[in-house]
Amino acid sequence: MTTRQNSSADQESAAVVILGAGPAGLTLGNLLHAHGIDCVVLERSDRAALGARARAGFLAANTVRTLERHGLADGLRRHGRPHGVCEFRTDGGRFRLDYGSLGRRELHTVYPQQDLVADLLTHYLDAGGRISFGTEALAVHDADGVRPVVAARDAHGRPARWQARYVAGCDGRHGAARRSLPPTALRHQCDHGVSWLGLLAEAPPSLDAVGYATHRSGFAGHMARTPEVTRYYLQCERGTPADAWTDEQVWDRLDLRMRAADHGPLRRGRILRRTVVDLSSDVVEPLRHGSLLLAGDAASLISPSAAKGANLAVLEAELLAEALVGDLAHGDATALERYSRRCLAHIWRAQEFSRWMIRLLHAAPGTDGESFFHESLRRSRLDSLRTSRAHQDWFAENYVGV
Ligand SMILES: Cc1cc2nc3c(=O)[nH]c(=O)nc-3n(C[C@H](O)[C@H](O)[C@H](O)COP(=O)(O)OP(=O)(O)OC[C@H]3O[C@@H](n4cnc5c(N)ncnc54)[C@H](O)[C@@H]3O)c2cc1C
Repeated sequence: MTTRQNSSADQESAAVVILGAGPAGLTLGNLLHAHGIDCVVLERSDRAALGARARAGFLAANTVRTLERHGLADGLRRHGRPHGVCEFRTDGGRFRLDYGSLGRRELHTVYPQQDLVADLLTHYLDAGGRISFGTEALAVHDADGVRPVVAARDAHGRPARWQARYVAGCDGRHGAARRSLPPTALRHQCDHGVSWLGLLAEAPPSLDAVGYATHRSGFAGHMARTPEVTRYYLQCERGTPADAWTDEQVWDRLDLRMRAADHGPLRRGRILRRTVVDLSSDVVEPLRHGSLLLAGDAASLISPSAAKGANLAVLEAELLAEALVGDLAHGDATALERYSRRCLAHIWRAQEFSRWMIRLLHAAPGTDGESFFHESLRRSRLDSLRTSRAHQDWFAENYVGV
């Protein structure tokens, strides 16, 4: 195992340099550090910005088990809330799926991503883990060799270099890891042709369930985050600016699409954050290029339609940690050789379900015969989900699983 540090004034080193302190990078950092592998996390943001980045909130049962297995689940066990019901609101009425008692009978844990990131960071630092905030990785050089180098810029804008045995690219879809991939790397991508205005509202949840509403004016979604904060989604035209609608117009649209007139008004509050998300997905293949390994959004971007991204990030980080520990601590590279294949199997399954959800929740655009055909298929799919126990079990297994 390589444990050299600070090899020279302007070049530092670690056995594993991890790019990015999101769920993937910090889970990996914690697991490597716990196994005595010398690693460092390079994160371009400061600590305060990390703790303010509200994104995911629904953790799958497997994610919770993974974090529990490694002693990283104290916060979510204390403050997370179990969740197992979703409600569909459609032209034909509403129906609820108690998915926690279907399929594998597993529940989500609702716990905001920024709280999970803060917990992982605290745990990592308390255990003596190394992190360099305000350090932006620019490129990974010589990834095919055995001593790759990360070129970076530190918090003062000065150049910095990190030499490693392995570089873990956990820096998301726009990070340096992806930019450093060789031309042989494949990137399979899909634009789902749908955009959402993602909203974080200072308002208690209005339903005791995840709410999915399909309406002729577009999709609307409701997801609890905390007793005081709720995430909503509103389908919008591609190119709509995030501030196109006032708070009141946003709530009016949500009320209309969630059919508040029939099922009760939503609990309104200040809109804290707005983000327009163009639903798209991609998968890099393979996930290993010499000494550079990808995990999380850097490996595969997945649309938020089925809440899989953060869950895949944790799963992949655990597989990557296992593979790196195998090689660096025990001289066994078998798991490293299998890393890409193992992750891709999970990634494609999640991508498939996520795409299925998009098709379930959004009307086919247009008014021609083919659009009518697709719209009729979608309604039939919803009807099958409402009435078929086998379909509901399949849904539950994929909805909570990664
Ligand atoms: C609106 C929204 C809602 C979502 N809801 C859910 C949900 O309910 N459930 C779910 O599972 N997923 C959800 N997701 C997806 C989930 O948030 C992501 O999949 C998850 O954050 C991926 O984790 P990661 O660690 O791979 O990347 P990130 O969380 O993006 O972390 C990457 C880190 O790398 C840093 N970084 C980037 N570039 C560099 C660089 N060059 N040098 C150094 N550092 C760098 C970034 O600052 C960041 O801290 C949602 C996403 C969005 C946008």
